[in-house]
Amino acid sequence: MNVKLLSSGIFAALLIAITGCSNNHPWKVHDTNRPLPGVISPAEQSAQPPSDAVILFNGRDFSNWVSEKDGSDPKWAIEDGCMEVAKKAGSIRTKQAFGDCQLHVEWASPANVTGSSQDRGNSGVFLMSKYEVQVLDSYNNITYADGQAGAVYGQKPPLVNACRPPGQWQSYDIIFHRPVFKFGWVVKPATITVLQNGVLVQDNFEIKGATAWKKRAKYSPHADKMPFVLQDHDHPVRYRNIWLRELPESKK
Ligand code: MG
Repeated sequence: MNVKLLSSGIFAALLIAITGCSNNHPWKVHDTNRPLPGVISPAEQSAQPPSDAVILFNGRDFSNWVSEKDGSDPKWAIEDGCMEVAKKAGSIRTKQAFGDCQLHVEWASPANVTGSSQDRGNSGVFLMSKYEVQVLDSYNNITYADGQAGAVYGQKPPLVNACRPPGQWQSYDIIFHRPVFKFGWVVKPATITVLQNGVLVQDNFEIKGATAWKKRAKYSPHADKMPFVLQDHDHPVRYRNIWLRELPESKK
């Protein structure tokens, strides 16, 4: 056998093993032909924080938050115990940084429905500032499957569409394990489990890399702990009852 060919083949296999990059994808990113999840109706529920939770939003102030861009005070609104995205004010991030965690977030897309597809009640919860669980009004609103509410954006649609109607409160309960990097490579990808309104929508999904738009996600090494971010996508999405429990590290 041609030694050159053999060695380049081994190199390519090694590269795929290390980076997880190959062209073997059944769907394009944001593929509109990808089947949409079935629609179900979740039951009423709201989870109050357990005694060991870090309370990240108390309904009254932004004491645990800053603007993502420059670290200044958030320009979002607070009213009736919830915060609301202010258009063009920018995304906000926690002052504290986190790695492995259990996160509870409640959100509501605007009751006054405007726009369609990605332009309706769009926001997002970014674990470690990089890995987005999409927030979107996906109630009777068709968009590409890997971009609807409960999706790991651009990577994995939710298992079902468990959305409530616009204006109603919804919850995400997220169990996240951070990626582990060694020598500049990811040696253990991040994993994520998400329950939307108490319904499993992501089942220990292995995240492919940092969230990207119209591009395959890929990893870049980063710190073991990073803030989490709530996205300003120009829609007045509301948030409340945000708490987090740090989990024991599960690194290799
Ligand atoms: Mg978003």
